Amino acid sequence: MTPLETIIRGMIRADGPMPLDRYMALCLGHPEHGYYMTRDPFGAGGDFTTAPEISQVFGELIGVWVAQVWQALGSPRHFALVELGPGRGTLMADVLRVLSRVKDAAKAAEVHFVETSPVLREAQGIRVPQSTWHHTIASLPARPSIIIANEFFDALPIRQFERKNGTVFERVIGLTGDMLERGLVPSPVPVPLRGEGVFEDHAIRAAAARQLGDHLARSGGAALIFDYGHARSALGDTLQAMIAHKYCRVTERPGEADITSHVDFEALARAFPEGGARIAGLMAQGDFLNAMGLEARTEVLSRSVEGEARTQLVAASERLAHPAQMGHLFKVMAVTSAGLQPPYPFGAT
Ligand code: SAH
Repeated sequence: MTPLETIIRGMIRADGPMPLDRYMALCLGHPEHGYYMTRDPFGAGGDFTTAPEISQVFGELIGVWVAQVWQALGSPRHFALVELGPGRGTLMADVLRVLSRVKDAAKAAEVHFVETSPVLREAQGIRVPQSTWHHTIASLPARPSIIIANEFFDALPIRQFERKNGTVFERVIGLTGDMLERGLVPSPVPVPLRGEGVFEDHAIRAAAARQLGDHLARSGGAALIFDYGHARSALGDTLQAMIAHKYCRVTERPGEADITSHVDFEALARAFPEGGARIAGLMAQGDFLNAMGLEARTEVLSRSVEGEARTQLVAASERLAHPAQMGHLFKVMAVTSAGLQPPYPFGAT
């Protein structure tokens, strides 16, 4: 049994079954035993691999996007280059390498990371030493901001509800004997659920999007949000847990498995404007990367390597963009303050 499981069992014994948002927050963020608090989970030897860890091209193309938005903002002498949940800092390092080739852009960028994990903060500090760290979005500085996030929203906790025989239940974590088990309790809050099926409540994610929308509206700028999920809200259980690249039960080894769920981009598209920002568009990751020049950049890079390395480089680009791999399931949403035109490739016809 993991140390966190002992703690969670005690909490359930004392307070009753636990909503999923509480469970997820503990599993990922418990100060001592939370998944992200204790480890660097990325890559082949870890639990899962993210786009910036697959290929440098991902971050480089985002760097080109950032440079373009910075110019559209009037090339301000200082701007906040913000990343939410930066993992190892790889994406930001790749973005900064591109900015260093654009006159004055790298000098203007002040890097701000929103990150809760001490272990990952350390990893980020090695790759991007000149950064400022924040625990929450609330403390970001009031200046023009370009915000990027990859696989951040999927890690923010959700709740699940389900209608059965006319009654709405909340899906919770309880105890059967001594074992953690998923179960149902009558919903403590009213949920307008018509269909039968699992409804995922994204209140915490929506609150983060509203806060970012408010920040962009006040300070000016744009955000580029990558995650896996669906463009339209739909019923369905998408909660998943993963250890060593394999799915496991959500109740398995709390604190040692990554727990996430698909992002409901329609819910985010409602929340950002509530904060005062505009949705510039939503695209499949593959379409975005292709429009930003994935093929050309892969080609240029592959000229400088040979053999196996070249094969890997080409395969990595394909993994990021092919619809059967990450190209379709992963989406990217662009959000801007009111004065900005949708930055390319959003809004391009
Ligand atoms: N963007 C990185 C990492 C994605 S994993 C990549 O693509 O490789 C999720 C990241 O979000 C981790 O850095 C994790 O520590 C961070 N994180 C998770 N929940 C968070 C929260 N509530 N506040 C801030 N950061 C969080």
